Amino acid sequence: MTDFDVDLFVIGAGSGGTRAARIASGHGARVMIAEEDRIGGTCVIRGCVPKKLFVYASRFAEDFEDAAGFGWTVPKPRFDWPTLRDAVADEVTRLSGLYRKGLEGAKVAIREERAVVEGPHEIRLQKSGEIVRARHILVATGGYPAFDPPIPGGELGISSNEIFHLPSLPQRMLVVGGGYIALEFASLFARLGVEVTVLHRGDNVLRGFDDDVRIRLRDALAHAGIALRLGCTIDRIEELPDGARRAHCVKGDPIDAEVILVATGRRPNTVGLGLEQAGVKLGPIGQVMVDDNSATNIPSIHAVGDVTNRINLTPVAIREGHAFADSTFGGKPWHMDHGLVASAVFTTPEIGTIGLSEQQAFAAGYELRIFESGFRPMRATISGRQERIYMKLVVDAKTDRVLGVHILGHDSGEIIQAVAIAVTMGATKADFDRTIALHPSAAEELVTMRTARAG
Ligand code: NDP
Repeated sequence: MTDFDVDLFVIGAGSGGTRAARIASGHGARVMIAEEDRIGGTCVIRGCVPKKLFVYASRFAEDFEDAAGFGWTVPKPRFDWPTLRDAVADEVTRLSGLYRKGLEGAKVAIREERAVVEGPHEIRLQKSGEIVRARHILVATGGYPAFDPPIPGGELGISSNEIFHLPSLPQRMLVVGGGYIALEFASLFARLGVEVTVLHRGDNVLRGFDDDVRIRLRDALAHAGIALRLGCTIDRIEELPDGARRAHCVKGDPIDAEVILVATGRRPNTVGLGLEQAGVKLGPIGQVMVDDNSATNIPSIHAVGDVTNRINLTPVAIREGHAFADSTFGGKPWHMDHGLVASAVFTTPEIGTIGLSEQQAFAAGYELRIFESGFRPMRATISGRQERIYMKLVVDAKTDRVLGVHILGHDSGEIIQAVAIAVTMGATKADFDRTIALHPSAAEELVTMRTARAG
């Protein structure tokens, strides 16, 4: 054991790596962590956190309008992009500093350079050339935005990495893709005043989500002024003489914009990391193949978070990192249950979801009872906004267990987090029914739906 310079070397100081490093160190392990970018990882630096701050900014557009219905006189609001962009950048810097302090406080040695795996116990730091021998290696390098397969002119688009730093707000923006990132940015930039068109190859957005939610979100996005070109596969991007971009779809007219955001998914960050040479098994898109304990086929190497392409969400990476550290260094073996994970899509209106969609539950062979409710939120009665909330409970008819909850509307991310406790505990529809409503609220509808959908 004393042959090793450290007990744990973590590659990647994002959510999963940082958590694992701190917990392992708390268990007495000697830990070193390497990060080639800024400490904090995708979520803090160029993902969830700055995105959510942009989402908050975008929602003021409707708040100003709605206020009038409640008696406020609001002068015509004016939005200043550099003010928001720079404030968000400052907040990101503050948070990255907190992550660093957390690591330092936990006595984790930090190396701010790229690390590559040289063998089952060996790491090389690329800039300094330092070789570190580690009893355990944890790969937590996350993912990167991908346009796969590449198309001619694909480099004329930008990814979610660059969108946070736009020098000015474009007049027109094209967003390629129909997933989380595409729709969140389409929704928020439209509210900041940009003319947004979504180009998506599918016949509806958010494949894999409950169909009733998808349809309603699609309509709500269109209602918010976002142009949706569905069934549109983009095959070429060109630059126009005035610097604008032109996207060509396989079918239909080309379309121009100053900025094209490509949000066609992410790939695990394993290129050039040395994992294959060390004998680590990778999957078809380069993901590190791991078992329930985040162990690879090489006993000294584990991997957590997006680099394993299981469920690519920050809290999942954190939980996987924590379980690894407790199991390996704390004498407390446990592993994360990936079965029920709540998530939100921060469009406006937003989606909150946990468990099986109606279509997934049906395909899995369940006999179902479906409860749904669509209503105008109280706030919209006076504001006059054309807005509705939709909620659905997917219930196993045999056991009465709630298999899935899906909400589209204001605060559904907040609501679903609380509902997730009940669903994780195995709540039945009868449990929902005996819960007393909190009135007046939107969420009370979840416990007052009594009649299953016919058919
Ligand atoms: P997603 O997998 O959610 O969406 C990718 C989209 O791009 C899909 O609509 C897909 O279409 C489309 N697409 C894929 N390849 C191509 C191609 N070659 N040409 C055209 N379209 C293509 O990925 P995102 O990049 O939006 O997000 C990555 C991950 O990050 C998410 O899966 C999620 O786990 C996480 N995330 C979570 C957030 C949250 O929790 N709120 C926010 C942002 C990201 P199709 O459906 O046809 O495959």
